[in-house]
Amino acid sequence: MGTWHEYLKTQGTPPEWPYPIKFGEEKELEADVLILGGGIAGCWAAISAARNGAKVVILEKADVRRSGAGGPGCDHWCNVPGNPCSRVDPDTWAIEEMKAGGDFANGIGIQIQCREDWDTLQEMEQMGGKIRDTDDEFLGVEGRQDDTKLMVCSRYSANNSIVLRKDWQEPGFNPPEERNNTVLHVWGTTFKPALRRECERLGVEMYERFMATSLLNENGRQGGRVVGATGVNTRTGEFLIVKAKAVILATGGANDTLWMLDTEHGGLSFSSRNVSSANFDLAWRAGATLTMMEGSSPTTDGAGLGHKWYTGAGDADYENMYLVDADNKVLPAPPHGWADGGALFPANRDVVKRIRDGIESGEFQLPIYGDSAGMKPEEAHATWDLTLSEESGGRAMVKSMRESGFDPGRDQILNYTYMELQPTEQFRNGRGAGVLVDWDLKTTLEGLYAAGTSAFFCGDHSCHALCASNGRYAGRKAAAYVKGAEARSLCREQIDREKARVLAPAQREEGIDWKELHFALNRIMQYYVGGYRSERLFDLALEEIRQLEEYAVPRLCAPDPHKLMRSLEDLSLIQHAKIAIQAMKERRLTARELCVQRLDYPESDPEELKNYLLLRQEDGETKFSRLPIRFWGNMKEEYEKHNPDYAGVYKPENGDGRE
Ligand SMILES: Cc1cc2nc3c(=O)[nH]c(=O)nc-3n(C[C@H](O)[C@H](O)[C@H](O)COP(=O)(O)OP(=O)(O)OC[C@H]3O[C@@H](n4cnc5c(N)ncnc54)[C@H](O)[C@@H]3O)c2cc1C
Repeated sequence: MGTWHEYLKTQGTPPEWPYPIKFGEEKELEADVLILGGGIAGCWAAISAARNGAKVVILEKADVRRSGAGGPGCDHWCNVPGNPCSRVDPDTWAIEEMKAGGDFANGIGIQIQCREDWDTLQEMEQMGGKIRDTDDEFLGVEGRQDDTKLMVCSRYSANNSIVLRKDWQEPGFNPPEERNNTVLHVWGTTFKPALRRECERLGVEMYERFMATSLLNENGRQGGRVVGATGVNTRTGEFLIVKAKAVILATGGANDTLWMLDTEHGGLSFSSRNVSSANFDLAWRAGATLTMMEGSSPTTDGAGLGHKWYTGAGDADYENMYLVDADNKVLPAPPHGWADGGALFPANRDVVKRIRDGIESGEFQLPIYGDSAGMKPEEAHATWDLTLSEESGGRAMVKSMRESGFDPGRDQILNYTYMELQPTEQFRNGRGAGVLVDWDLKTTLEGLYAAGTSAFFCGDHSCHALCASNGRYAGRKAAAYVKGAEARSLCREQIDREKARVLAPAQREEGIDWKELHFALNRIMQYYVGGYRSERLFDLALEEIRQLEEYAVPRLCAPDPHKLMRSLEDLSLIQHAKIAIQAMKERRLTARELCVQRLDYPESDPEELKNYLLLRQEDGETKFSRLPIRFWGNMKEEYEKHNPDYAGVYKPENGDGRE
């Protein structure tokens, strides 16, 4: 059929819905371990649960081969202190990471990552993922190790450099012999296909184009053991019921979707479009405890008003590439490379201010460029053909720039942010919110686990590597749990209620399209739950959401299964918004640690900041409670206590543990 646009041009009408519509029909399945979301954490969870003997089913909204934030690729395997080039031991590095992540980072997730990340990466290599420069393509590039062919990456090469250190321009800062070598370059475009192949080899049943819509509790009682889930096919509308002894929630955890998924900010998010608050919504309705819902964070990590030359980095600055002004004067902006220990530039307000002042005083001339042409050729090659080409949407960008004649050895790249005078910090974002988990990555509900960005704040932008190692860990724990667990029967009444809720928009012949609802919710959050926060603004937001629920939700109309999926996502986003605002109202303080600025509570309360705010739903009512920060105890000791039998890297010759 060619592309949608070609079809429209030649036929003059949009094509018919190309799949059979099966609204109302049901399919039933059974699993030991059911995984919701086949992204990075979900795939690793599936593989490790299957290798530990469980019958595994994945429900994935898209196509496992490329779905999720890590689907298109990943070029930095962050925090892998167990790798042979590392200069720090994993337990020490976990403590360093906690220092960088602050009090509200998730010490459980970080400790698991630091201990098991290198094993996870070696397993990735076994599966066919590329983790070394085996073709000697990057000989001479800084960080390449000739013996192992591993490529140490400049990112975070000085301790705590995610927040720029003051001494980064001092002589001798970050010499090679002092670098921690904890971050490796990887060829992440090879990873998702390798994970999918391994799932297939292990007999994991993958139900793609199925969106999970709810968790099922024992006896249908909110807060009871989780015994399965429901889903809907995003092409046919068929309703799915899965009975499982354990469920792993791995639908991703885009904290920013409420604010960012609109036409003005598209792509700025660090998540996939398909990650639309399912983790919050599903866990909440089942009665699991959430935390960090009140946090916020600035959206500095990206380009100007919707422009972006690369979805993950700053505006025309990238590893080892300096920003220069129109007269080629180098700006005092760290290039988040070796020179500054891999600091992430946008994190630093002083730098932005210094450049802005320079522009206004005439010291720097607009426009500003990323000085690709000024890089050493071998470093430019690594930046363009490894770092950018392997990371998420970067490959498409590099390809189209090259096709339109861009030569990284000759050309520079325009930076938009400073010309637009974009606010440097827009507090339109969530921060670290997710499902509360313990040392088994088990949630507060029996039978329910959470992994990857679905769980609460993981630290270090909840990176791919953390999600992989945590997913692998959750799969192992869930497989151990199901060995002694019986499957419980499902509650038909709960299923029928959910089926009616899911299919309601499909049964209307006319009404409101999901896009209108979506845009309205984005606007409410951007206006009333933005940088400045107060009780009055929160109440206005809640009132507007109430009106949306009263007026728009009962009129949502989804004539095809794709629109149904988007409509259901928006219902999850509404749920997410209401939970977040409730938490914000409860936490009455201004706190840099949580990036919260309350106009009506300008003081920071040190006692209050020693707690996590927890919330869950019970019989339709919100229950709040607190947990002390660092509730997980001594990270090294607790990890060892919970993993005495950890077997290390998988040995294919030992089989997959099934009987
Ligand atoms: C541009 C960009 C660059 C990045 N670069 C790096 C990097 O270099 N290094 C690094 O370490 N990290 C990087 N990351 C972050 C990394 O990709 C993510 O942290 C990681 O993919 C998160 O894993 P996850 O399993 O939690 O979520 P995801 O991988 O996003 O998986 C979630 C999955 O759940 C599915 N899903 C969602 N809702 C439902 C539902 N209701 N039912 C069924 N399925 C559902 C989604 O389709 C998706 O497949 C980058 C991210 C982006 C966006």
